Amino acid sequence: MTNPPATHRTVIVGAGIAGVSAAAALRSSDYEGDIDLLGAEAELPYRRPPVSKEIVRGEKTADEIRIKKQQWYDEQSINLHTGVTVSSIDTEAHVVRLVDGKPLHYDQLLLATGGRARNPWNAPGVRTLRDLSDVPSLQTELTGGHVIIVGAGLIGSEIAASARGLGSEVTLLETASLPLPRLLPPELGELYVELHKSEGTDLHTGVAVSAVEPDGVQTIVRAVDGRTWSAPVVVVAVGMEPNVELAAEAGIDTAPPEQGGGIIVDAHGRTSVPGIYAAGDVANQPNGVLGGRHRVEHWQGAQNHGTAVGKVMAGGDDPFVEVPWCWSDQYGFTLQVAGWPEASHELVVRGSLADRDFVAYLLGDGVVRGVVSIGRPKDVRVARAWIAAGERLDAVLEGGPTT
Ligand SMILES: Cc1cc2nc3c(=O)[nH]c(=O)nc-3n(C[C@H](O)[C@H](O)[C@H](O)COP(=O)(O)OP(=O)(O)OC[C@H]3O[C@@H](n4cnc5c(N)ncnc54)[C@H](O)[C@@H]3O)c2cc1C
Repeated sequence: MTNPPATHRTVIVGAGIAGVSAAAALRSSDYEGDIDLLGAEAELPYRRPPVSKEIVRGEKTADEIRIKKQQWYDEQSINLHTGVTVSSIDTEAHVVRLVDGKPLHYDQLLLATGGRARNPWNAPGVRTLRDLSDVPSLQTELTGGHVIIVGAGLIGSEIAASARGLGSEVTLLETASLPLPRLLPPELGELYVELHKSEGTDLHTGVAVSAVEPDGVQTIVRAVDGRTWSAPVVVVAVGMEPNVELAAEAGIDTAPPEQGGGIIVDAHGRTSVPGIYAAGDVANQPNGVLGGRHRVEHWQGAQNHGTAVGKVMAGGDDPFVEVPWCWSDQYGFTLQVAGWPEASHELVVRGSLADRDFVAYLLGDGVVRGVVSIGRPKDVRVARAWIAAGERLDAVLEGGPTT
């Protein structure tokens, strides 16, 4: 591995976990050049997952979820610039331009720009939750009132659980027939129908929302089939848009939404423009296990991808190959999902779904493609290795599966 010279400058756009991890990996790989880490949020970088959990419930402060303390950036000679948005890239001149017009030269550039909450219905009573700055007003609104949440994916479901914890009446609307439709096969989605119900969340599935608009002091949600719901506040949690505009305007290849969107990278995080890399939620990357491409929106994936790409930028040559893994905390239960669960997969369950203490293996032609669990993190760790190796369940599960 040959390190770039000490006069070299790396600019990282986006100070989320992917950007910070890349900066850390550059330094731990003995990169001696300048590192400028630029983040649009006026915040010392923080861990995003607690935002819909402990932070919105007021159980933790912003300072308790920092990725690193300021001292660490100083010690690592990482020039952290918060509240600084990059508005354009000149790939010929190797310059990024900040919103105030200032140019910043780079020798190599990492785009770790993540994404923003998708919101098709911008209206006064409509909220989204992605950044710490979204929290203060929402926290008050989720406390002891009535809130409608559109979208029962990971974030919408967590907000529902947090709002119930804060004593609010919660109406949760989902287009699919079950909650967590992108994460769980139907049998396990049913579990979350029961969980929401038992915790007092009013879940309605099969709801295609056509409009969210003001209605006096209320905000009304209209469904295509004519049903309506209203509350003072509606939280829209219908996924995220990858922040690709900077790359696209600079002529860097991006993927169309039907292919997952994002900035197209190879297994080393390289974009279509030499010297420019992308990592984390914004990267549309090769799937090193199953083939094809995917864009992952999970914390650990963004962290490990940032680390891997940072090492490449320091002169390393290892491709990034990882089985995706995420968790979600709802009503005191931690769900873990790894791999690529699909509705068509055969489900083999060990433990008890009713007691919410189980591991479920998802098989495609007998091969472990995904794993879902509540309460059995060790089994998930083991199954991730099986997924990576393409193991058949009957070959690795001693004594055969039990239901
Ligand atoms: C509320 C919430 C809860 C979550 N909970 C979980 C969970 O329980 N488990 C799990 O696995 N995952 C969870 N996730 C997903 C996880 O947080 C993300 O996968 C991860 O944060 C992605 O990291 P990233 O660094 O790629 O992008 P981001 O975290 O989006 O960071 C990108 C940063 O780049 C900045 N930026 C963008 N454009 C520019 C620009 N032009 N100039 C300067 N800066 C720019 C943005 O402001 C942002 O700060 C959650 C996400 C959210 C929003």
